Amino acid sequence: MSKKYRGKGLIHLPSRGRGTCPVCKAKRIKLLYEILQDNGGKLTVCKRCRHKKVSI
Ligand SMILES: [Zn+2]
Repeated sequence: MSKKYRGKGLIHLPSRGRGTCPVCKAKRIKLLYEILQDNGGKLTVCKRCRHKKVSI
């Protein structure tokens, strides 16, 4: 289970784990981190945004 965010661990993900980050709008970045929103929903964000408090 190590390095699950790298290499072959990403291939099975939609778009191989990449997309546009809903927080910082970076395109084709790896969206690997789930964060909890204030409303209880989950959001998948990039590494730069994983510690941010977000409400979208
Ligand atoms: Zn981001």
